[in-house]
Amino acid sequence: MRLVLVGPPGAGKGTQATVLSQKLGVPHISTGDLFRANIGQLTPLGQEAKRYLDTGELVPDSVTNAMVEDRLAQPDAAGGFLLDGFPRNTVQADVLGGLLAAKGTKLDAVLQFDIAEDIVVERLLARGRADDTEEIIRRRQQIYRSETAPLLDYYRDILITIDAVGSVEDISERALKALRADA
Ligand code: ADP
Repeated sequence: MRLVLVGPPGAGKGTQATVLSQKLGVPHISTGDLFRANIGQLTPLGQEAKRYLDTGELVPDSVTNAMVEDRLAQPDAAGGFLLDGFPRNTVQADVLGGLLAAKGTKLDAVLQFDIAEDIVVERLLARGRADDTEEIIRRRQQIYRSETAPLLDYYRDILITIDAVGSVEDISERALKALRADA
């Protein structure tokens, strides 16, 4: 299963990705987590990415695409993956499509987490990550609307939408059911 998760910041993609990656037996690849790991380890990539994460802007495509290409080339991703936070714009989607086509594969589905923005702000503020201040959350939401939401149309042929309001268990169940029904 080659799967992409799409949804606004705070929609619960990371939480669900952990559950789904176990159930589906594919690695969870989160660009946000990869950036934060690099920042923590003070790598050159982390030093470059930090100022973007700190303000809620997207890390430049050149940096992000190279990092994802590297990660997808690792053996555990050969049989499938669950991408969380990538692609975040149509340029990244084109790059991903190219990488997969070069290996003779393609995405099986894009899972959209449907949830209202005002619900997620509360959650993000409660989470309290460094980039979870009200101002930076607002910026990330703007970027989601302008840069990332166009992916819903881009991927319309393989898009699966689930209601992302509810308990963690309910949403995992909805996601697995929707994926099974689609397969
Ligand atoms: P959230 O889903 O709450 O927005 P993430 O952990 O997915 O949080 O992302 C945190 C930050 O990492 C983003 O605001 C952005 O700066 C950076 N980032 C993550 N994925 C990408 C990407 N695909 N392209 C560019 N920047 C990204």
